[in-house]
Amino acid sequence: MSTKLDAYQEIRDAVRALCAEFPADYFRKIDEERGYPEAFVNALTKAGWLAALIPEEYGGSGLGLTEASVIMEEINRCGGNSGACHGQMYNMGTLLRHGSQQQKDYYLPKIASGELRLQSMAVTEPSTGTDTTKLKTTAVKKGNKYIINGQKVWISRVQHSDLMILLARTTPLADVKKKSEGMSIFVVDLRDAIGNGLTVQPILNMVNHETNELFFDNLEIPEENLIGEEGKGFRYILDGLNAERALIAAECIGDGYWFIDKVTKYVNERIVFGRPIGQNQGVQFPIAKAYINLEAANLMRLKACELFDAHLPCGTEANMAKMLAADASWEAANACLQFHGGFGFACEYDVERKFRETRLYQVAPISTNLILSYVAEHVLGLPRSF
Ligand SMILES: Cc1cc2nc3c(=O)[nH]c(=O)nc-3n(C[C@H](O)[C@H](O)[C@H](O)COP(=O)(O)OP(=O)(O)OC[C@H]3O[C@@H](n4cnc5c(N)ncnc54)[C@H](O)[C@@H]3O)c2cc1C
Repeated sequence: MSTKLDAYQEIRDAVRALCAEFPADYFRKIDEERGYPEAFVNALTKAGWLAALIPEEYGGSGLGLTEASVIMEEINRCGGNSGACHGQMYNMGTLLRHGSQQQKDYYLPKIASGELRLQSMAVTEPSTGTDTTKLKTTAVKKGNKYIINGQKVWISRVQHSDLMILLARTTPLADVKKKSEGMSIFVVDLRDAIGNGLTVQPILNMVNHETNELFFDNLEIPEENLIGEEGKGFRYILDGLNAERALIAAECIGDGYWFIDKVTKYVNERIVFGRPIGQNQGVQFPIAKAYINLEAANLMRLKACELFDAHLPCGTEANMAKMLAADASWEAANACLQFHGGFGFACEYDVERKFRETRLYQVAPISTNLILSYVAEHVLGLPRSF
């Protein structure tokens, strides 16, 4: 592993010690029950790990994205799934960068302590998908309130969050010069909203990821819950995505190392035809190739984090890191499942669970095709395709 990352050994050891209290059978049971790892997330919050990116003046630990990414990586490397809680780590960035001083003073210390959970961000809609600027959810100003109507889909952790960042259109698409204008972001207090204009419909899914469809029917939110300036929400959301991409890249890298460790051990021990299956090059090569791709992806993740921490542009690197890491973890997952033979399909080996979990990152939070198209257009100068 990269020597630079070894500078974070202290963080690694501490996160590993916490994760050791939640071994594989804990996560397996949660998966079987389609539950939520409440005790694990509470322990992470209590230990302050999810407040890594919150500045010290607001009660967080004021660490950089690199350190935060090491925390996420270690959770996945230990067999857990950061997807249950990563929102608490990065959603607050929107408030931190674009919130008023009053909003920051009120929310950030409570998020840092875990008194308020900001696990959710609602962007995706069923009828418009990746074409975000066409989203149909509206926020209409009426007196000192905004009235929200519309629908969102795949909104994660709503049932385990107190607050949610919402992207909605405040000026109709037809009335703006650029389609990215006229959208705004709000902080929604879910404790007030659910049952009072917001209905939450859980979506059963392959990953046991707590995710939901949301229906807004004249939900009223106070005007002071607008973050930043009205109409600039899309830009604010984009600002936060680089951190999200880099953190998810780190989670994929953690998954990848988990698969490589697991399969390496297994193929050394499993004897077929009188020798370890790992003695066959047909078995060795796919594992070695996945490991090489993982190490390369790790370098790009590190580069993206370093640029972010130096306040330099990092959109390209964060997206590339996310794609390379998601591809490498998926490649490692495939090799791990394949060389466990039938046992890879048995839940007690955890391979099938991690296989499902890491597959998500080919699609969310941004699909691989959209990253390719971003690089083609914005880095290589090829004609815009959509
Ligand atoms: C478990 C889970 C959790 C999620 N959590 C959240 C959340 O908390 N908040 C939130 O806002 N969203 C969330 N999402 C939504 C996620 O970000 C979207 O699913 C993802 O961005 C893809 O959008 P879509 O599903 O609408 O796919 P679509 O936009 O319908 O695209 C489908 C596929 O078509 C291809 N495609 C689309 N357009 C193009 C193009 N122009 N060129 C080439 N290929 C293209 C891509 O391969 C893409 O995967 C979550 C999704 C899942 C599955």
